[in-house]
Amino acid sequence: MPELPEAEVVARQLREHILGAIIKESWLGREDIVRQGLPSLPWYRGARIAGVERHGKSVALACERGGDTRYLVAELGMTGLLLFGPLRERYQKHTHLILTLDGGQVSDLRYWNPRRFGRLYLLDKPGLGQFVSRRFGCDPITVSREEFCALVRTRRGRLKPLLMHQQVIAGIGNIYANEILFRARLHPARQAHRVNEPALRRLYRVMQQVLAQAIKDGGSSVRDFFAPDGSEGRYKRRHLVYGKDGRRCPSGCGGTIRRLRGSDQRSSFYCPVCQRK
Ligand SMILES: [Zn+2]
Repeated sequence: MPELPEAEVVARQLREHILGAIIKESWLGREDIVRQGLPSLPWYRGARIAGVERHGKSVALACERGGDTRYLVAELGMTGLLLFGPLRERYQKHTHLILTLDGGQVSDLRYWNPRRFGRLYLLDKPGLGQFVSRRFGCDPITVSREEFCALVRTRRGRLKPLLMHQQVIAGIGNIYANEILFRARLHPARQAHRVNEPALRRLYRVMQQVLAQAIKDGGSSVRDFFAPDGSEGRYKRRHLVYGKDGRRCPSGCGGTIRRLRGSDQRSSFYCPVCQRK
């Protein structure tokens, strides 16, 4: 958390509010949050925000100045937020970057992160290309059914870790992986290469439906996710299995949702009746 739908909601709000704005000033609270390109920070002053891209769970601002384009990439990590100012008091403490803006609909954009998992990268165009190709596999929203089915079919290993493997399929984390697998009636520990063709197509269809609906609902506000304008995501109301262990399965099968603790601290939530191994 945030996962792809939340990052997409962030990217869309940024497009709506700050596209075309000029960066007047930048303020950096702590330098170690910038993992790459720190010396180029002054370059961004005076640059125009010409585009907003989402790659996996990261958001990249394309900034233009004097015919040159550079990128400011924010990893949202586990707890990172991009927020418009002015903000509620409580977000002042862990704000690491403030871009003061001119000509957009908001006065500034802030990167907030109470933990240190989130990071910023200042990259030129080839740098962004490398960043994306090293970290991110296909995008689950734009990947074709054929490509997706081929990816899963040729993989050894369990289905849920595969869905969450950013270098294979970028952007799905624990919440959406659980929700997708329940709706596709596939056990999280199923061997990926053993899933048959109709089930694979079902998985693809469900994955796209879940992500599209979650984006439409503004994402899921679990723990501390807010969109840049401070609005909460409403998809949490549609969660069927995530965090629902011990409850009756919503499909009416009579089963009880179980929680399986994985080695990586991430739990799987599933219905043993609907999702047989
Ligand atoms: Zn069930």
